[in-house]
Amino acid sequence: MIRMESDVIIVALGLSGMATAVAAAEQGLSVIGFEKSDVTGGQANMGMGPFAVESRVQRAAQVSLTLDEAYRKHMEITDYQADAQFVYKYYKKSADTIDWLMDMGVRFEVQRYFPHSECTAHNVLPEGGGPTGPRAASTMVKRLTERAEELGVQMMLQCPVKKILVEDGRPVGVLAVNAEGEEIEAYADAIVVATGGLGTNHAMIKEAYNMELSPNVQYRPIVGINGEGAKMAWEAGAGKSPLAFEWTCGISDNFNHMELEGAFRAKPDLLVNLNGERFINEDVADHVDWVARAILKQPQQVAFMIMDQARLDYLKKYGPEYVDQVHGVDMYNRFEESVRRAQEANYPDLHIADSIEELCEKSGINCENLKKTLAEYNHACATGRDDVLGKDPKYLFPVSTPKYYCCKIVLQTNSPSGGIMVNRNLEVLDPNGKVIPGFYAVGMDAAVIAFGGRYPMCLPGGNMGFCLNGGRICAENIASYLDALDNQ
Ligand SMILES: Cc1cc2nc3c(=O)[nH]c(=O)nc-3n(C[C@H](O)[C@H](O)[C@H](O)COP(=O)(O)OP(=O)(O)OC[C@H]3O[C@@H](n4cnc5c(N)ncnc54)[C@H](O)[C@@H]3O)c2cc1C
Repeated sequence: MIRMESDVIIVALGLSGMATAVAAAEQGLSVIGFEKSDVTGGQANMGMGPFAVESRVQRAAQVSLTLDEAYRKHMEITDYQADAQFVYKYYKKSADTIDWLMDMGVRFEVQRYFPHSECTAHNVLPEGGGPTGPRAASTMVKRLTERAEELGVQMMLQCPVKKILVEDGRPVGVLAVNAEGEEIEAYADAIVVATGGLGTNHAMIKEAYNMELSPNVQYRPIVGINGEGAKMAWEAGAGKSPLAFEWTCGISDNFNHMELEGAFRAKPDLLVNLNGERFINEDVADHVDWVARAILKQPQQVAFMIMDQARLDYLKKYGPEYVDQVHGVDMYNRFEESVRRAQEANYPDLHIADSIEELCEKSGINCENLKKTLAEYNHACATGRDDVLGKDPKYLFPVSTPKYYCCKIVLQTNSPSGGIMVNRNLEVLDPNGKVIPGFYAVGMDAAVIAFGGRYPMCLPGGNMGFCLNGGRICAENIASYLDALDNQ
């Protein structure tokens, strides 16, 4: 048995764990972080970048959104279920956090997530050059890791925490196991759980929340994120927070068919359900979270985006109206290639047909209804007035020229946020709402404090923004707590 000691122990060195570790070490505290994987940064290594408002990068890009505007939007979207004081505090800190990361050598470019979103995503420019994009945030993780090394944080990789040690009703340390299989008992005055939430651990979600996850949803499993932190925290006396799912939508198996997804997702083209009926004014289709919430209510929780040959030819020539961060304005130039790849892989959700009857036969959409819908919709396109859903006329594109292209749109979600009940200081609460001294949670394990039941997707970068700013706020609170302990 190996024995270790420090001021602070961090259970997991994903994004929130790294931010907490660096910020605590900057406060002069000794920090040990235990991480079960062989790298730091967790799922942030796959992403693009964090939220901030009124940052210097935004000023340089002439983004006029103010802190107060962004805060109000956040609170309205979350139905005021997020902790208002916490949100204001972390939004206020977010510009300084960008400076903090830039001082470590991270470079950012501000972007929107979709046209009607705010320009709050500070997407990381990858080291070695090139544009920002998926996985670019791994550069930010590297800089945080270097800073942690410089500050003497002990980063114990391949060292999963198995248990939180409790004495007199208060966590005092952890039991971990290193790569050689040796047990480590580590003790500290402050313990922080940062294990990334419940992930796609369906069994645990069912057992702890009596929640049956829908088979129609594409839950994106993230290796290593399976609720271990929440489970250990509950065993150590923490209360359970509600869970919040971040709904979005796209095509199935999208990581293998990214280009195809770009062609069918979040575009203002005709969207119908299995009954062949429209269910949303498609001009808002770039709000993938709104579309997802509407799909939640549709039969079998699926939808179909349909376009015809004339529309495809137009898109190839002029590009889509709604461009996202991942697929460029020229995405339709690669359409044939992505269709060929899909067909070679026997991709089941893409249908191309010479007639509406054939399209319905292939896709399963109710044909009689779809024909009725198309008659109405094409009439709206011809007259410039949608009497069914009031869609913005500039997005009324008829579906009348074969071939017809249709792809199934499914619900997608990452790890839900929540699990561990915390207050706005990120102190863990017991089931009665009482603070457990010296016990903290950050990142997705604690994210309900920031998002309530609903992730504000139109303020992009929110997850990483919460992880980074929450980590820094947590470290400040730990420093005050340890100061008070010393002065007792
Ligand atoms: C593909 C993808 C792209 C994304 N892009 C963005 C984006 O651009 N912007 C944005 O804001 N958000 C993005 N996100 C979400 C964001 O990355 C996460 O919300 C954030 O990384 C969560 O941070 P965390 O610290 O809570 O968890 P993580 O960063 O996932 O870290 C959790 C860590 O816990 C470790 N762990 C688990 N159990 C144990 C244990 N028992 N002992 C020790 N270690 C343990 C895991 O190995 C992992 O390293 C993206 C997510 C994905 C999957």
